Formats: sequence, structure tokens, C-alpha cells
Amino acid sequence: MKVILQNHTQSQSITEVLRMFFLKIKNSEEQTIYIEDSSGQNLVLYSSLSTRVSKEQMRDTADQTRILVSSRIAETDLKIETEVIPSAIRRELKRQTYYLLSKLTGIDYPWGSLSGIRPTQIVYRSFLENKQDRLLTKQDLIEKWYVSEDKVEIALKTAIREMKILDKMVPDLPLLYIGIPFCTTRCAYCSFITQDAVNLKSELSLYVKALLREIREIAKYFRRIDKLFQAIYVGGGTPTALSEKDFAALMHAIKAEVPCAKNCEITVEAGRPDSITETKLSAIKIFPNARICINPQTMFDQTLNRIGRGHNVEQVYQAYELARNHNFRSINMDLILGLPGEYGADFLSSLDKILKLNPESITIHTMALKRSAFLEQFSPDHYLKLRFPDPELGSAFLQAITSLQNHDYEPYYLYRQKNVRGGLENIGFAKKDHACIYNVGMMSDRISVIGLGSGSTTKIVEGDRVERLYNPKNLLNYIERIDELIERKKDFL
Ligand code: SF4
Repeated sequence: MKVILQNHTQSQSITEVLRMFFLKIKNSEEQTIYIEDSSGQNLVLYSSLSTRVSKEQMRDTADQTRILVSSRIAETDLKIETEVIPSAIRRELKRQTYYLLSKLTGIDYPWGSLSGIRPTQIVYRSFLENKQDRLLTKQDLIEKWYVSEDKVEIALKTAIREMKILDKMVPDLPLLYIGIPFCTTRCAYCSFITQDAVNLKSELSLYVKALLREIREIAKYFRRIDKLFQAIYVGGGTPTALSEKDFAALMHAIKAEVPCAKNCEITVEAGRPDSITETKLSAIKIFPNARICINPQTMFDQTLNRIGRGHNVEQVYQAYELARNHNFRSINMDLILGLPGEYGADFLSSLDKILKLNPESITIHTMALKRSAFLEQFSPDHYLKLRFPDPELGSAFLQAITSLQNHDYEPYYLYRQKNVRGGLENIGFAKKDHACIYNVGMMSDRISVIGLGSGSTTKIVEGDRVERLYNPKNLLNYIERIDELIERKKDFL
């Protein structure tokens, strides 16, 4: 099969949609995209604009010129056309391509043609365009973007909650992210830059030294310009994979150096239950209202073993009890749907066990199919099919959403990743007053985020402009260049 672009060069946008249906795609010429399709059909999809439109015109939201966008598959009766303004062309081309391929293959994704990572933004925009009429918004998303009714329901609910949280945040006060890219073992599906904390003891201490330096210098800069942080997130990796001494030094440096607004939220990922100790919990407790995350991912020992987590279910219970005994007022727990060897029923059984523990928030992730040694055991065809809509997993997700809401958890942030099982999403649920404002602010592109540590990203938001600065992912590079990186960050800020 091939796709021929007429009067436009939006091959990247079209390819994003093609990847939902096909594995092997080649952009060998600017105007043609080639697809290796196992059905062996030599079909041609034409994606056309009535006239050529410049990139500048497509960026100008004030330009109301009408352009006819049409797509068709030759020698079939599959065709679609719509008139749109230049700034809507890209979205329309993607929508039409999705429509034709969905009809051709019979594959319907739960999120329809929405391929981006933040569908709630589109849902909220539609909600405003439809004068906050829920019924019209739903109709719009179902008919125009082919989103399933269930997803429209959860997306709209989450989008409204996200907006309420964002409206209460102070746009001028940044968020702080501190990254610890180490874990006690590596999960089979991990695609982060995380490193082995057990075998890298000397690098670990050097890393903490460099990070403390970055925290001190950047915090000093913010004190000087008199700017406070409204939320701090210590993530990774697994921050509690550090030694007790290094971990305590990190907590104390944050407490002593970082200028915080009144009621500043702080969250610490104590992800792996086997890395949590009394001493580390006491170190976190210097922030009396700190949120912590204890992440079981599944409540089945067999699966934990299969995915290389290096801990068991009993350790999840022990870590949770220890944290409760330290009076943490807000504990989040993560679960993953679609782990290798698990069915929807297994996931729901894990969820039931977590609900009995009654943490303040629960985050549901869908297994992401990033390339890793673990996935290489699958054939390319099998790999592709794992991404296709999966009614069994989809229905388990819906049951989980219902069950969480019946237990007083409300969805408050939602995002999607590329290449996930069943085309599903990740959703954070929290009880009243326990939503993590960092999670919402960080996803929004409305609030600046200062990233410290190897692999972290600093994002400065000024009106509609967003600029990013990246710290190196390579650990040694980060350690060796720390002074230069600090100066570069101050200049950027
Ligand atoms: S806990 Fe997270 S960062 Fe660490 S190895 Fe597992 S997936 Fe990767």
C-alpha cells in the first residue's frame, strides 16, 4: 500500500496515524509514503488539499480561508472530504486518514483518531467551543473524532477536574522536578534511562554530590529572584534506591535550600517497596505533609518475578504498613494493566487488593510497548497486534474506572503514551483533596517546570511560548559537566 500526498507535505502527521494500523512504514519520497502491508493489497490512499498552503498560513489562527481537504482510497468507495481553515489542516488530514484506515481494516481504537498524548486538552477545547454543553461535546467527539462513548465520558470528567485544579494553581510559581535515575533492579519493560543502583555504588555517590550541587545553586538563584516553588516532585527511577545516608542528604538539601510557597506540595517516589526503610521514611517526614508513592504494579508474585521487579507482594504490604505507621497522610499506589502473562481479571484482582488498603490515590497505567530486550522475544506481527484494540483489556479498564469511582476515587489527570497495549491510557485517581497538583501542572504547558538531575527537562512557559532545556541523560557526562550545566541553566532561566 502507499499514500500519495497532493498539495501538502504533512507526511509526519499522516505517518503517526499509519503507525496505528501498520508496522513497516517508509517515507522514501517527500510526496509518497510506502507501507509494507501483510494483506498484499496494492492500494493507494490519496491525501489532498485543494490548493497548496504555506506553513506560515497553517500557523496563523486568524486566517479564515477555506481549504478543501479530501482523502480517498483508489478503486474503493472509501472517501471523505471537508472544508477547513488553514490552521485546522493538519488535524483534518489525520482525522481523514484514520477514518479511511479504520473502515478499510475494521479496527476502531478507543480514542479514535486522537493520537496525541493529552486528549483531555482537545476534549476541554471542544467543551468550551460547545458552550460547556456536555451532550454537544460528547456528540462532537464521537462523530468528529471517532472517540468511543466510554472514553468521551472519562475524558470529559477528567478534563473538567484538571481545569479546576489548574485554576487554583498560581501560574507564576514554578514546579520543581528532581530526578534520581537509579533503580534496585531493571523492570523488563523499562525504557527510561534508569541505572542499576546495586552495581553502581561509587557512581551513585558522585551523582548525589553533583545533584546536591545543582539543587543548591539553582535554589540560590530562585531565592535571589524571590520566586517560590508551588510543588516539588522527587522521581526517577526510584529515589529510595539511594543509600540511607545519600537519601537523607537529599531530603535535607531540599528542605534547607529550596524556596517553597506556603502549603508547597512535595511528592517522593518510594516506588519499589523493597527500597523503603524506616530511616528513609523518617527522612521524608521532615516534610510533614509529603505524599509518597509505593508502586506494586501488580499483586501477583509470579508476574513480579516475570517482569524483574525484585520484590514480592508481601513486601508491598510491609512497606504500606510502615508508611502508615509513619503517618503519611497521602499515599499513591500504581498498577499496570496488560502486564506480560496477565489478563484483565488479574489486573482487577490486584486492584481489589489495593482498594482494601485504601490509599489516597491510585494511578492506573497501561503497559507501554517500548522496544526492550523483553519485547524482542515477540515477532514484529505479534508486537503490532499488542497495540491493537483489545476488548478484554478495554473492558477491564472500564470496570476498574467504575470500581474506583464507587470507592470515592475521582479521575484527575489523564495522558496517553505511544505504543501502549490496546491503544489505552493512563489515569490518576484520587480521593477528595489528594490529587497531586504537580502531575496536573506538569502536563498542562501552563506552568514552568525546573528539572534537576541527569535526564531531567526544564520547561519555561511564557504565555503561548514554551522553551525547553535538557540535562544530559548520560550519568558521567552529567557529573563531569555539572558546573557548566548549572551556569547554562541560570542563563536559560
Ligand atoms: S521502576 Fe520504573 S524506572 Fe525503575 S526500572 Fe522499573 S520501569 Fe524503569
